[in-house]
Amino acid sequence: MLQTAELDQTDMVQIQPPFPDADLLHIADLLSPAERRRYAELRDVLQREIRPVAPGYWNREEFPMGLIPRLAELGLGRLQTDGSSRLFTGLAYMEVARADVSLSALVGIHNELVVGMIHDLGSREQKARWLPGLEQFTAIGAFALTEPEHGSDIAGGLTTTATHDGDGWVLSGSKRWIGAGTIADFALVWARDTADGAIKAFIVETDRPGFSATKIENKIGLRIMQNADIVLDSVRVPEANLLPGATAFEKANELLRDSRAWVGWQAAGIQLGAFDIARAYALERFQFGRELARFQLVQQQLSEILGNAQASLSLMLELARIQEAGRLEMVQSAMAKATTTRLARSSVALGRSILGGNGITTDYEMAKLFGDAEVLYTYEGTYEINSLIVARAVTGKSAFV
Ligand SMILES: Cc1cc2nc3c(=O)[nH]c(=O)nc-3n(C[C@H](O)[C@H](O)[C@H](O)COP(=O)(O)OP(=O)(O)OC[C@H]3O[C@@H](n4cnc5c(N)ncnc54)[C@H](O)[C@@H]3O)c2cc1C
Repeated sequence: MLQTAELDQTDMVQIQPPFPDADLLHIADLLSPAERRRYAELRDVLQREIRPVAPGYWNREEFPMGLIPRLAELGLGRLQTDGSSRLFTGLAYMEVARADVSLSALVGIHNELVVGMIHDLGSREQKARWLPGLEQFTAIGAFALTEPEHGSDIAGGLTTTATHDGDGWVLSGSKRWIGAGTIADFALVWARDTADGAIKAFIVETDRPGFSATKIENKIGLRIMQNADIVLDSVRVPEANLLPGATAFEKANELLRDSRAWVGWQAAGIQLGAFDIARAYALERFQFGRELARFQLVQQQLSEILGNAQASLSLMLELARIQEAGRLEMVQSAMAKATTTRLARSSVALGRSILGGNGITTDYEMAKLFGDAEVLYTYEGTYEINSLIVARAVTGKSAFV
């Protein structure tokens, strides 16, 4: 028989859990001491200043322009260029997602697909013109690949055209879903050269005649991120706006390989966020005279969310290891993106259920995550497309068409 004192001790452990930050596997300990301090500060600021205000912006589908300088102060505009380790960069993406998934989309696209693209594929002049402002978040760019009629099949189907004309190019076509499209200073537009059929990329300043962007309204996820339908009506850009390194679709694929890894970190972050919310709720909410956290079925659900989150985090840790060594290939990032977003979808559904009816209103945060997880599952290549990429790599058989 247990003595009363022993029972009380058990209760104390339950009331003061030893893992309040949910890093059960001590992954943050793998950072250098300097990065560990930066990581702790980042997480603290995101939880204190960003997370509490995010649901209001999300409900209103409003972009929090006033928060951007704070993100810049945290160094979130220059993760690609400041020498941060891959693990730190990933954990930073994860913590932004844990606080708010839309802002983590902004930070991820900014670093992986805008700063990364100009840094890797841009000319010396393009880098000098844009990188300083981007690193400080005083400039914002958009990555414009998807089209209204071509999403999963964009590689072969891309129809936006670029025609060489005199000392520049004329761009015509439409783009859909473009993140930050209505607020960006420029868009990185992928278009097909009408002369040689190759897919090339151009910096298109958003104030050029013929460029228009319309906000996509009524989204069920990522409502803070301003996604746009873009029309390019014979937009003229100078020769200097062609990115010299972006001369084929393979270059877009190299960027997508890295950005799929970023979505994996987002998926880990949303699951930690779901765990944070569900755990706090289960400890506060009483039914049948006791906290939800005392019911075995609720404990099992909490444990499953945490297990999914830690499995995702562990997978991303290994991805960061091979990425740091320059060995990341599409098959690995596609596998990680597909697997972690599948788990994320399951985790937020469990979390939503723990909140009962209150999981149906964004007043309790969880419903916001529930919608956001759907976007993670679908963008940067849908779950199905990423699965096909993995299976093609391991069977040698393509099942795309
Ligand atoms: C919120 C949000 C933000 C986004 N941000 C950007 C951005 O900033 N820039 C950008 O360029 N794009 C962006 N996208 C676009 C995104 O990458 C595409 O939505 C995605 O690639 C899927 O394309 P689609 O929506 O056209 O779906 P479709 O390609 O029409 O697919 C519809 C369904 O069919 C399935 N399917 C298609 N082909 C196959 C096949 N061969 N086998 C099996 N199943 C198949 C898909 O998996 C999916 O379930 C964003 C999308 C969203 C929703």
